[in-house]
Amino acid sequence: MEKILIETSDSVSAILVGARWEAVVKLLPQSNVAIVTDDNVFDIYGREFPAFPVLKIRPGEESKQLKVIESLSKKLLKAGIDRSGFILAIGGGVVCDVAGFLAAVFMRGIRCGYVSTTLLSQVDASTGGKNGVNLGEIKNVIGNFRQPEFVICDATMLRTLPADEYLSGLAELIKTGIIGDPSIIEIMEKNQVKIIRRDRELLTDLVARSVKFKASVVSKDEKESGLRRVLNFGHTFGHAIELHESMKHGFAVASGIELAALFSQEKGFLKAKECRRITDLLKNYDLLKKYKLPETKMKELVLHDKKKTGNDIYFVFIKSIGKPTVEKLKTDEVIGFYRDYKKK
Ligand code: ADP
Ligand code: ZN
Repeated sequence: MEKILIETSDSVSAILVGARWEAVVKLLPQSNVAIVTDDNVFDIYGREFPAFPVLKIRPGEESKQLKVIESLSKKLLKAGIDRSGFILAIGGGVVCDVAGFLAAVFMRGIRCGYVSTTLLSQVDASTGGKNGVNLGEIKNVIGNFRQPEFVICDATMLRTLPADEYLSGLAELIKTGIIGDPSIIEIMEKNQVKIIRRDRELLTDLVARSVKFKASVVSKDEKESGLRRVLNFGHTFGHAIELHESMKHGFAVASGIELAALFSQEKGFLKAKECRRITDLLKNYDLLKKYKLPETKMKELVLHDKKKTGNDIYFVFIKSIGKPTVEKLKTDEVIGFYRDYKKK
């Protein structure tokens, strides 16, 4: 088991990679605890949950709404959870986002911890302290930064994930490898069979590498003022594709990574050979899905993205695997690249 600490100005969060999730009970207070989960996770793991009240939400992005926070708050009150209570999230990114936000606002903030059950949330979403809900089409506009006390990442739980959820998480792992830890890319290139089979040991190692990189970035830049922007690699185009095509986050990000790599090559930052290595890896894991998204719609969606400031976009390029660079570009240049790409 590896314990990775995320230290920010006002908190310390422990990410426990390779720990058995059943041991979570040792990290909880004896009473005044409520568990937030979704129906699917509850059906598979509910019988083994610690003996506390369970608040279930519907699986999927539709649960990331303010009205869900309101209804969960009522249930917390009903369960007698007070200011010194504790919320334990057991689930993927959606559950952790909702429960994290709930814990941040209920009674002006109570303690919380996560058991992270999807690959996507283990490598990315549940580490970093961002939480929130959506407002219509716009994702995560209402939320805040707040570190959970702990996050348990147990690769055994990934065995029950639907195949597309699992693959979608691999894309985010590739992203982390590209911007921060080339060893992730090497391991993924050399161990494809084992990774597709969801080998526990290998996954634990990969998740730990990913979390370490993310922890180093978040510790230096909790509130995304600069450094943390690199984590957005592949997401400028990726978010737009995700919205337009209703594609799973990871698959959209995979296409976003492909575009960002090609754009990096076109700008002269990245050698063709390295770019090829990236696109080959995405193809080998079958992450590149077809999408239509016309240029005009891409422009509209990129402009919508809340990470845009004024008419400029902070676009994350790479100079080589492991070396990102953030450049401020005019939106027109970004869209121009996409237009030319679509013509090819
Ligand atoms: P993320 O944002 O991390 O992809 P979600 O919270 O949307 O995750 O979860 C994706 C889907 O996978 C949901 O339907 C959820 O109920 C289901 N799920 C989460 N964890 C598991 C698991 N360990 N086994 C099976 N299904 C899971
Ligand atoms: Zn992402």
